[in-house]
Amino acid sequence: MTMRKMGLLGGMSWESTALYYRLVNEEVRDRLGGFHSARLVLASVDFAEIVKLQVAGDWATAGTRLAEEARSLEAAGAECLVLCTNTMHKVADAIEAAVDVPLLHLADVTAEAVRRAGVDRVALLGTRFTMEQPFYADRLRGHGLDVLVPEADDLTLVHDVIYDELVLGVVREESRAAYADVVRRLVDRGAAGVILGCTEIELLIGPDDVDVPVFATTQLHARAAVDFALA
Ligand code: GLU
Repeated sequence: MTMRKMGLLGGMSWESTALYYRLVNEEVRDRLGGFHSARLVLASVDFAEIVKLQVAGDWATAGTRLAEEARSLEAAGAECLVLCTNTMHKVADAIEAAVDVPLLHLADVTAEAVRRAGVDRVALLGTRFTMEQPFYADRLRGHGLDVLVPEADDLTLVHDVIYDELVLGVVREESRAAYADVVRRLVDRGAAGVILGCTEIELLIGPDDVDVPVFATTQLHARAAVDFALA
């Protein structure tokens, strides 16, 4: 058996990168058994630097920074790239242009799972960037999905909970309830499933909190990475 080496580009935030590390290892253990664990290299950035660029809207510099990290992963033997954040797929093109190995695009992995579940109209929760800008939702739409995002106040709440709490490791019961309410309103608008399109959201809510199928991007991405490694 040969296992390919994954390249995780994380730190955005490390709270969810830690989850990726656990999930890819559990997945390899479950599939191969025994003492097997994931072969991987990890590049982990200082999230403060990335948030500053997000706030400034300086995506070009962010793309250059992450492309640099991607090259270092490739040089360290990574055979694929797993960008451990939905938001920074905004600069997926810059990263892909910098390396020869494939980037396992999170929106593609997620859209395929939603389609497999037979869901056509799906809600998307994530950062404001992910929910409002076309780079992610349009990529989902390209797979034939109808994508709904929360309305104004709900959208702000979802974004603020990510940056004020989840990326800092804070998980609050009130926020879990608030997210469940947001999802309920999206279901009322016709959503038949919900994408947890920020890698920290699954630290807060899961299938038990809502009445529709949940598509947890960190789990889906980790599984796709292991599919690639073991193919
Ligand atoms: N991890 C988050 C995501 O999946 C947000 C943090 C970031 O800004 O990268 O979008």
